[in-house]
Amino acid sequence: MKRSKKNKILLCLFFISCFVLVVLSSILFIKIFQKRKIEVLLENDLTAEVSSTVMVQSFLKEVKNGTIESQDEKLDTSTIGEKDITILLRDKRGNIEKYSFRVSVIDTTKPTITAQDNINVYVGTDLDLLKVVQVEDNSQEDIVPYIKGEYDLQTVGKYSLQYVAIDSSFNEATFDFTVNVIEKPYNETNYTFTTSNGFLGEVKNGETYIDGILIVNKTFSIPSTYGNGLTSDTQDAFDKMAADASSLGLNLYISSGYRSYNTQVSTYNYFVNRDGQAAADTYSARAGHSEHQTGLAFDLNSISDDFTSTPEGKWVQDNCYRYGLILRYPKGKDDITGYKHESWHLRYVGEELANKLYNNGDWITLEEYFGIDSKYQESNV
Ligand SMILES: [Zn+2]
Repeated sequence: MKRSKKNKILLCLFFISCFVLVVLSSILFIKIFQKRKIEVLLENDLTAEVSSTVMVQSFLKEVKNGTIESQDEKLDTSTIGEKDITILLRDKRGNIEKYSFRVSVIDTTKPTITAQDNINVYVGTDLDLLKVVQVEDNSQEDIVPYIKGEYDLQTVGKYSLQYVAIDSSFNEATFDFTVNVIEKPYNETNYTFTTSNGFLGEVKNGETYIDGILIVNKTFSIPSTYGNGLTSDTQDAFDKMAADASSLGLNLYISSGYRSYNTQVSTYNYFVNRDGQAAADTYSARAGHSEHQTGLAFDLNSISDDFTSTPEGKWVQDNCYRYGLILRYPKGKDDITGYKHESWHLRYVGEELANKLYNNGDWITLEEYFGIDSKYQESNV
């Protein structure tokens, strides 16, 4: 009996020590195993600016007990939002495991507004002020700005306004500008103005250039002293055109090229005496308003409506633009140009603009393209 009790105690002790051993070795095993387990420390800031260049692995501060297996790559920052990233890690025993984390692509940058500080427009110009502003944002989204402040393009005055642009992350940019609604003629020698199509006009000593193109029509004149013959560009354009026409058996010649201010005085007065001013104004320019004085325009062949239906007239209509020349007074545009159709009157503007105005045969006028009118100041004709 005594012996059996002793055995029992020994057995009990044996089991207890076994248990302790198991527990201790388990703890030791876990400790060793834990030491081998990969641990990743991420950076505190898990955000990236939209459209910026950020490498995915730049968000990893430290990788313990292992190495990064996957190749580093650029984070997709093209859109705002949460991005899930998975990389492959290799532990010390060579096992590969996936590790995932999430970063936010955000927009903290204001849009940029590009516009003119000071916009001059002639009173009555139908200019959409949103046409002459550009907004860009790093988010690549299309941002339509709005205008803060009151203005009236029908009333002469100076208006202080502000463009405001807000991106989808509520970053706001502002741009202060002034709209100066002016009478024409404007009592300053040199100034700029903006046309209703948003082109910049420049007035220099009485000459008006829109987007670099000298404009002479009923609204815009040139000084009496301007001009001395056809410009070399204009002459060269005609020479090339005439040579090509000649190779096709067509005969083109200039009947009236450069005309001085004084010549135009006589020309216009002759027609006024013959047909009256109202009629003369539909086909003859007042002195200072004739394109012939610019040296950039000329009349071809018969200077008559008959020219339109001749082989030469037909060919010119469809080919002059190739030489930088435009049909200045196309058919059906009398109210826009202020003149009747003239198939014989060409104006040099350069090949790029001529090609646009040719418009695959459906001629656009300078007035329509730039957004300007052609009307004498006092008579509105
Ligand atoms: Zn002419």
